[in-house]
Amino acid sequence: MTVRIFNTVSRSLEDLSPIGPPKVGIYSCGPTVYDFPHIGNFRTFASIDLLRRFLKFRGYDVVSVMNITDIDDKTIKRAADEGVPLEAVTDRFTDAFYADLKTLNCMKADVHPRATKHIPEMLEICRELEKKGLTYVSGGSLYFRIGAFANYGKLSRIDKEGILENARIDNDEYEKESARDFVLWKGKKGDEPSWESPWGEGRPGWHLECSAMSRKYLGERFDIHTGGVDLVFPHHENEIAQSEGASGVSPVKYWFHVEFLLVNGEKMSKSKGNYFTLRDLLDKGCDPMAVRYLLLSVPYRRQLNFTLDGVESAKSALRRLQGFSSRLGEYGLQQLPSGPEKAGEIEAFAKAFGESMDNDLNTAEALAALFEAVRAANTMMDGGEMTREAFDAAGKLVSDFETVFGIPLKADETLEEEVERKIEEREAARKSKNFSLADSIRDELKERGILLEDTPKGVRWRRS
Ligand code: AMP
Ligand code: ZN
Repeated sequence: MTVRIFNTVSRSLEDLSPIGPPKVGIYSCGPTVYDFPHIGNFRTFASIDLLRRFLKFRGYDVVSVMNITDIDDKTIKRAADEGVPLEAVTDRFTDAFYADLKTLNCMKADVHPRATKHIPEMLEICRELEKKGLTYVSGGSLYFRIGAFANYGKLSRIDKEGILENARIDNDEYEKESARDFVLWKGKKGDEPSWESPWGEGRPGWHLECSAMSRKYLGERFDIHTGGVDLVFPHHENEIAQSEGASGVSPVKYWFHVEFLLVNGEKMSKSKGNYFTLRDLLDKGCDPMAVRYLLLSVPYRRQLNFTLDGVESAKSALRRLQGFSSRLGEYGLQQLPSGPEKAGEIEAFAKAFGESMDNDLNTAEALAALFEAVRAANTMMDGGEMTREAFDAAGKLVSDFETVFGIPLKADETLEEEVERKIEEREAARKSKNFSLADSIRDELKERGILLEDTPKGVRWRRS
């Protein structure tokens, strides 16, 4: 059982072989907290969550670090527009980010370091780069001289010929087609928030924080660095230049990049205005677990076109799994005959589920195997052929799905309790010959997709 992941730097699938097993250190570029993230951002964050859960499932001790970008052009602009201090904006949207993570059942990282709390660590990297002759000062700002760093372009395979001599860039966002010297420390402009430095008062360029914080929390070399594909260039290329330039060590063993969530064939993004936040979707009545299921159902290296119909389909797939899980639970209450050969059928699908996940988190194939197992187990139950061993194998697969995908199928235990209570109310109504109340309870449940069956052993219920 070897986990294989696609490494952007080699452009190939590689066996995961951590630097210090069983530990796997993962650094993820986190949100810029100037607004609510959109669900494109959450495709990346949910995929990272899946990676963490799966590696844990495979027995690794995952240590996860995700930064919070709380100083950049956008956060500064928002605070200025609102006329409030920077932290008023960044605290608000950091909390909103954590709340959204929770709603989508994404685990928080072990550490969420904030850029503004790591200025000394960033300045230290600048000093080391300066000592190595990789920097120069221009117009009160400190720049990284990419022409002096031999490995520049290794990750993105950007054409180094395209380096524009002395072309400098100091915006946090810029055109991505050509390599330019990038800013490490920006000289103070106007009344922007600023800190003292050997190069004068100013603030860090965007790329610097990730080099400083990954080194602080995971060391000079760590296992996996993640982010969306749009970060490959320039952000991650520049991170390598800073980290490797300072320490002489290649910082990351595996680069893991998540493809875009699209809307009508275009990247979902704030600037295009074609986005939904998670809150928009909840307001439309979407089930957050259906959103999570949708975001994870297409393997992370394939683009995924977002539609509300897609959320609906995800919801019905989820309902099938929930229905199966509760049917299995009820079925298992009876005496089942022993028969290991029936288990083999389910176990083959369980194996395919695990192998698909080992194969670069191929969730589409893993889910296909899961649904095959559901079909096989349902057929066994329909025909009264379910054995104790097959039942156990199916139960284990359902629980593996819950663990790896982070989607609890028994989430509506509260629903189950409520249904049981309604059934008792209906029984009481029938006993007191209040048949109209009994019927209205039955109808109300029917409308909610719960069918009651009166059997000699009492009332049973199932989802329609
Ligand atoms: P940001 O807050 O803009 O720095 O983005 C946070 C994360 O979301 C980064 O890893 C981005 O690469 C990722 N991201 C942004 N837009 C999308 C999208 N449409 N689909 C998937 N990931 C995205
Ligand atoms: Zn980063």
